[in-house]
Amino acid sequence: MSISPRLAAAVVVARVKPLVRDQGPGDRGQGNDGDSDSSSQNDASKGVGGEASQNDASKGVGGGASQDDASKGVGGGAVASAGAGGPGTAAVEAADETSEDAMYGAGAGGERLVDLAAPLNEDVELWLLKEQDEAALKVLRHSAAHVMATAILELFPETKLGHGPATENGFFYDVYRETPFTEADLAAIEARMAEVVARDDKFVRECELREPALREYAEDGEFMKVHFIEKFTKPGELVSFYRNGVFSDFCRGPHIPSTGRVKAYKITSIAGAYWLGDEKNQQLQRIYGTAFFNAKDLDAHFKRLEEIKARDHRVLGKQLDLFSIQEVAGAGLIFWHPKGGMVRKTMEDWMREECIRRGYDMVFTPHIMRRELWKISGHEGYYSENMYPPMELDDAEYRLKPMNCPGHILIYKSSPRSYRDLPQRYAELGNVYRYERSGTMHGLLRVRGFTQDDAHIFCTPGQIEDEVVACIDFAESVLRTFGFSEFKVELSTWDPAKPKDYTGSAEHWNQAIASLKHALERKSIPYRTIPGEAAFYGPKIDIKLVDVLGRMWQLSTVQFDFNLPARFELEYKGEDGELHRPVMVHRALFGSVERFFGVLIEHYAGAFPLWLAPVQVGLVPISSEKHMNYAEHVKATLEAAGLRVELDARNEKMNAKIRDFGLQKVPFILILGDKESQSNSVSVRMRGKGDQGSATLDDFVARAKGLVAGHAMEL
Ligand SMILES: [Zn+2]
Ligand SMILES: [Zn+2]
Repeated sequence: MSISPRLAAAVVVARVKPLVRDQGPGDRGQGNDGDSDSSSQNDASKGVGGEASQNDASKGVGGGASQDDASKGVGGGAVASAGAGGPGTAAVEAADETSEDAMYGAGAGGERLVDLAAPLNEDVELWLLKEQDEAALKVLRHSAAHVMATAILELFPETKLGHGPATENGFFYDVYRETPFTEADLAAIEARMAEVVARDDKFVRECELREPALREYAEDGEFMKVHFIEKFTKPGELVSFYRNGVFSDFCRGPHIPSTGRVKAYKITSIAGAYWLGDEKNQQLQRIYGTAFFNAKDLDAHFKRLEEIKARDHRVLGKQLDLFSIQEVAGAGLIFWHPKGGMVRKTMEDWMREECIRRGYDMVFTPHIMRRELWKISGHEGYYSENMYPPMELDDAEYRLKPMNCPGHILIYKSSPRSYRDLPQRYAELGNVYRYERSGTMHGLLRVRGFTQDDAHIFCTPGQIEDEVVACIDFAESVLRTFGFSEFKVELSTWDPAKPKDYTGSAEHWNQAIASLKHALERKSIPYRTIPGEAAFYGPKIDIKLVDVLGRMWQLSTVQFDFNLPARFELEYKGEDGELHRPVMVHRALFGSVERFFGVLIEHYAGAFPLWLAPVQVGLVPISSEKHMNYAEHVKATLEAAGLRVELDARNEKMNAKIRDFGLQKVPFILILGDKESQSNSVSVRMRGKGDQGSATLDDFVARAKGLVAGHAMEL
C-alpha cells in the first residue's frame, strides 16, 4: 500500500476486509459497535431454557471491578473503522480482537487488522486507523505488552512468557518466574520500558517454519509459547513473530510501527493466575498495565477509575445502609435493609404495574420443585452444576429452582389452549438460586440467590414479531424510566453451517431470526449481529445499557426457545382445529433485580432520583422543642401526600442534621423554624443545589408529588 508521508505519521494500523462479490448490503451499517464482549456469554445464558444474564456483570464491566476478566469486559467506545480514505460507515459485525483466538487465529468475518507494512495479496476494502480509533488503541496496548515483556526479559531473563493481549482497559502479560515479582521489580520494569521506548525499535514481522520454532521454544523451556503455537497454528505452517530489537515474540500481530509510539503507559497491578486456569498447574503472574496515545488520556483513565471506585455499590450500600451480605448466612445471598428494601419495592411496584398495563399476567411459582421436573426440562442434565444439590423429602428429591421457566410452563399446560387464548404472557418476580463458585461472588452483581423480573410468552408463530416489538418497547421504557438514555443491542444467531449443534429446524431458526430482525428494524434500533453466539435452543436479543461513566451492562434479554416447548410437549389448538406447538420466548428486563439495583447505585452514586429515593424529604426542626409540633404537622401532611419522610428529632444543631441528611443523599431537606411555623411554610434545600428559599407547604407538596409522578431525573 502506498500512502502519503504526512498521512503515514498519523496512521498506526490498517483494517482490511477481502472483497467478496456476494456480500449483502443488508449486513452493513446495522451493527456498528465493535465493543468486545461478544465472548462474554456465560453458562447461564447458554444453559437449558435459560435467559438470565446476571453473570455478565462480573466480567469486568468497564472499570476496575474484576481485572481478570477485563479482556471480556465491555465499556469501551465503538470501533470506528472509518480512517482517512476509508468508507465512513463500516460495519464491524465480527467480534473484536481481544481473545486469544482473535490474537492468534483467523479473524472472524474476513475482517482483520494488519500492520502498515503488511503485504496485501488480494483485493481488499481498506481502512486506515489513526490514533483516535478504538481499534488502534488495542494495537497500541498489545504493542505496549511487547514493550513490557522486553523490559521484563532484559531485567529478569529467566522469566517465561505466556501471552499478552490488550484488554478493555489496558493490557496484561502472563509470565512465569519462580520468585514472585515485588513492587520494586514492577517499578524497575516500568523504568526499563522507558528505555525500550526511547530506542524506538521497529516492530518487524518475521515468519519461520513452525517445527523449528517449536523446537527452539521447547529447548528454552518456554512451555506456554509451545502451547500457543500448537494450539493456534497447524503443522507445516509458517508461524509469525514480531521482533523489536533483539526481543521476538510469537504473535499474529498487528503492531504499531515502532516502540517509540508507546508514549503514555503505566504498570498497574499484578495478580496470580494458574496456567490454563488449572490450580494443579504452575502459578503464573499476570502483570497488568495500561497505555494510551497521550498523557492526557492516561490521566483521564485513572481519574475515571477513581470515580468508579467512589461509586462502588458495595461501599455505598454500606454507607447508605441499603443492603448487606452476611458471612453467617452465606456468600452471595443478599439482605435488603429497610432503605434498600424501599428502593426495591418502588422498582418492583413500577415493574408490576407496567406488566399489567402491557397485558401480562402476574404469576407466582414455588422455590423448590421435584427433581423429576428438572429432568423433563433438561436442567438436571445440562444445567445441573449450576444448581443446588437435591434435598431428600419424604416422597421424592427436590431441587431449588435456578430458573422460573418450568413453573410457567406448568401453568400453561394446566389447561388446554386454543389460538384464541394466545398470547399467554406470564410474569413473575421470581427468586432463583444458582451455584457460583466461591470467590467469584461480587456484591450485588454476582450472587447465588437473586430475583429475576422474568416473563414467558407463549404465542403463535404469526404473533411473535409483535410480541418481540412489545418486549423491546418495554425494555426501552425500563431504561428510560430508570435514567439511562443510551443502550446497545446485540442479536445472537446460530451458525447455519452447524445445524446439529442446535435444537429446532432451520425453518424455525430462520423465522425466529427474521422476526427478531424485523422487530428491531420496526423500532429503528441499530444492532450488531453475532453469528454463532446463540444458545443451542434459540436466537436472542441482548440489550446493554450505558451508564453515566460509559460502562455497559447487560440487562434485558429476549430469548427464543425451541427446546422447552418440545420437551414439555406444549400445544394449542389452531384455527384449523389441529394441534400446534406454540412459540416460547423468555424475557427479563431488569435481568436480576439485585444486579439492576447495584447498577442503579453506581449510576447515581447513591443519589437516587426523588421517586426512587428511600427517604425523599428530611425534616429539620431548628429547635427540637419549640418547632417539634410544627415538624410533626409537616411530616403528617407530606406522608398523607404519599411522600417518604424522615424527621430528625434529635437534640442536635441544625447544621449537623442538615449534614447528616446530606450524607444520606436525601433529595429534599426542609428547615422548620419560627418563620415557617407561623406562615405554614417550609424552607427548602435541594440535593446538589442548596438553599432554594421558602415555599408554602402546599406548594412544596404539589411540586414534590409532581416530580415523583413524572419519575423526574433532575432530582
Ligand atoms: Zn504481539
Ligand atoms: Zn425462562
